[in-house]
Amino acid sequence: MRLVFIGPPGVGKGTQAVRLTDSLRVPHVSTGDILRQGMREGTAVGRKAREFVDAGKLVPDEVMGDLIAERLAKPDARDGFVLDGFPRTVAQISILDDVLGRLGVVLDRVFVLVAPEQEIVRRLGGRRVCPQNGEVYHVESHPPKSPGVCDSCGTALIQRPDDAEEVIRERLGVYAELTEPVASAYAERGLLVEIDGTGDPDAVFERLQQGLEEV
Ligand SMILES: [Zn+2]
Repeated sequence: MRLVFIGPPGVGKGTQAVRLTDSLRVPHVSTGDILRQGMREGTAVGRKAREFVDAGKLVPDEVMGDLIAERLAKPDARDGFVLDGFPRTVAQISILDDVLGRLGVVLDRVFVLVAPEQEIVRRLGGRRVCPQNGEVYHVESHPPKSPGVCDSCGTALIQRPDDAEEVIRERLGVYAELTEPVASAYAERGLLVEIDGTGDPDAVFERLQQGLEEV
């Protein structure tokens, strides 16, 4: 099973990707991880990527494509993978097409996890962290025993700048503009399966498994 997994920030994609790869027994290929791995291993393309990262620049799509090709060519990905974080733009679709063409494989499905903006804002906006030990709470779903204070060490909890509502809405806007067209493009190819990402993680995972039967 060769899958692409897309979804907006805060939809719970990371958690679900891990469960999905465990159940399918295929590797979770996240672009963040392979970028770090490529740079660590110091392969030719990894070194190229590092030049951009060290210069504080975005790694170009073609270089990302080469990193993905290198990762997907490894034996553990021969029978399948869940690709997470690429393609994020319509331009990256053809890069991925090219990578898969070189490997002689095709995508089986593209899953997009969806949730209403308001729900995502509530999920991410309610997060609080302990600046002392990094414990993560949520004002609704996982509140500390006494409000605003870490259970373990009593430190006052904070909201990360990334979890501020205006920052979340900004990131969702970028996703809508750049990545939603990716889902549409795959829908036209008949590969897209839209999964409702609302509710508890078990229910979402059940819908994902049903999605494996579709298309
Ligand atoms: Zn603490």
